[in-house]
Amino acid sequence: MKRRYWFLLILSITFVILSIPELIHKNEGKSKSSGTVGKGKLENPYLVPWSGKNFRYFSPISYFVFDNGYTHAKVHKTILEAYKTCETTCPNIHFKIMECSDKSGSKLLFHKTHQNGLSVDFMSPKIKTSRKKQSLLFDQLGLWHYLLEFSNSGQLNFSKNTNIDFETIARHILALDKAARNNGLHIKKIIFRIELKDDFFKTPSGKKVKQKGIYFAQALPNWTNRVHDDHYHVDFEILR
Ligand SMILES: [Zn+2]
Repeated sequence: MKRRYWFLLILSITFVILSIPELIHKNEGKSKSSGTVGKGKLENPYLVPWSGKNFRYFSPISYFVFDNGYTHAKVHKTILEAYKTCETTCPNIHFKIMECSDKSGSKLLFHKTHQNGLSVDFMSPKIKTSRKKQSLLFDQLGLWHYLLEFSNSGQLNFSKNTNIDFETIARHILALDKAARNNGLHIKKIIFRIELKDDFFKTPSGKKVKQKGIYFAQALPNWTNRVHDDHYHVDFEILR
């Protein structure tokens, strides 16, 4: 066999071996989050599904190799219930879940939080401005998606025809808020780039998010602010 085929074979076998925990994982029993999102632990985690009717996890490397698709059971239920609602409130939109927490909690590569199963990153859906249709092309970048940059009005830097779909994000957040309350949680904080918030709150559903008093971070360190445009970060808190 040629050397490059050997390389591909070994790579594939390694991937399958590293995927075993996810392939055999069973969501059952109670989860336990301890500590904070910045210094915490997660016991008996639930794995978000790889895909559903209107959503998919964004990266096989993050999901199967880094084991980063885990959450607290209540967050898991909240995510799925919200996507169910979005089947009606956001028809024809396909969502992507980005990084959740590591299987055992603790630190995730490149994230300061996400340690106790109560933080989730959601990919910002995008719209083709010329056709008022969802743009899915850049949603396929996997981990590289975190590197996308947008202007202060949500325009993708190297594709002027692609914009963040603020209305859909707001509808998704409303669905998350409702599902969280149904499951004994609430949205503690959303992190989204400060300069994008005026466009977000201008949309019809953005106004409803504001009315509900869902808290968005008011000031962020420079780097944290810069990277929260291609995705919005949600911290949940357990109420009961
Ligand atoms: Zn995050």
